[in-house]
Amino acid sequence: MTPSKTILTDDFGRKHNYLRISLLEKCNLRCTYCMPADGIALSPKASLMTADEIFALAQTFVENGVDKIRLTGGEPLLRKDFPEIVSKLSTLEISLSITTNGILIDRHIDILKQSNIKKINLSLDTLIASKFHSITLRNQFEKVIDNLHLLLNNNFQVKVNVVLMKGFNENEIIDFIKLTEFLPLSIRFIEFMPFAGNEWDRSKMVSQNEILSQVEESFSLDKIQKLEDEKHFTARTYKIKGFQGDFGIISSITNPFCDGCNRIRLTANGKIKNCLFSNFETDLLTPFRNGESITDLISESIKNKKKVRAGMVTVSEIDNPELHLGNRSMIAIGG
Ligand code: SAM
Ligand code: SF4
Repeated sequence: MTPSKTILTDDFGRKHNYLRISLLEKCNLRCTYCMPADGIALSPKASLMTADEIFALAQTFVENGVDKIRLTGGEPLLRKDFPEIVSKLSTLEISLSITTNGILIDRHIDILKQSNIKKINLSLDTLIASKFHSITLRNQFEKVIDNLHLLLNNNFQVKVNVVLMKGFNENEIIDFIKLTEFLPLSIRFIEFMPFAGNEWDRSKMVSQNEILSQVEESFSLDKIQKLEDEKHFTARTYKIKGFQGDFGIISSITNPFCDGCNRIRLTANGKIKNCLFSNFETDLLTPFRNGESITDLISESIKNKKKVRAGMVTVSEIDNPELHLGNRSMIAIGG
């Protein structure tokens, strides 16, 4: 049984039972909103967590109340020892899931099933093949679509992550929602967020209100159903009545959801981050390798967590690049 107050409870009473582990900093796509145009300085291989270290660190978190782990990256399925990592993690009493760009799903589908992974978040920002290259800089559209169907045919619960950007894909919002008429998918529209090197500018972002306006213009109000949000939601969810799937909006910029935050992150080089927006990281891997206890470090990191977006409460603070330039690129954090 999880103790009522653990080292993972912060000063605002939020219990962090959800750990997102980044498996690597590399990727087989180059999404422009995620990977800086000049690439990133990769951590030396020796400073990345091995499969055994990932398991041991995850075990410490599980002993302290984590019951949900998501594997991310970079592209998690690119890691050669991915099968070993998921097999080990699947022995823990957790719900295990992954976030992937989908390219290597067919290669790993058996191990995903064997590891009892049921929920997969797949990133896909356009339904138009020729546009896929302009955002990812790679030609993998058909592969991703085939693997999306492979997952559905194998009864995985799939959420499709769509980062919306002005002038690129805001004209596909309704097409994505229409996909849910006959497919049991959850589409999740994500407001474009600022990270080092991604040239974020609020004018490029498509806001929650803009998304909802488009929905209300395309469907009659009595057909748009607001669904009950999950306890620790990131997406505010909706459904078009009669459609098989649903859709949600992750509005980290215009309507944050920090009150119910239960998420902590472990980067591929073994650093804990208490908030996606935070510039601060606490190294767990070095002390772990030195045989030292890491529980006090975890506790301190959680205690330092700010109430809202690493202390960036207002929109003007988000607009100030000085406040988030110290944060690593999304590809190196693990979304
Ligand atoms: N490679 C995997 C993938 O693309 O799903 C996992 C890692 S990726 C960093 C995780 C999620 O972060 C993806 O859904 C991606 O769209 C999202 N993401 C990356 N950069 C973002 C940004 N600047 N704003 C909002 N979401 C972002
Ligand atoms: Fe790679 Fe995912 Fe980032 Fe795209 S969003 S560059 S697929 S890590």
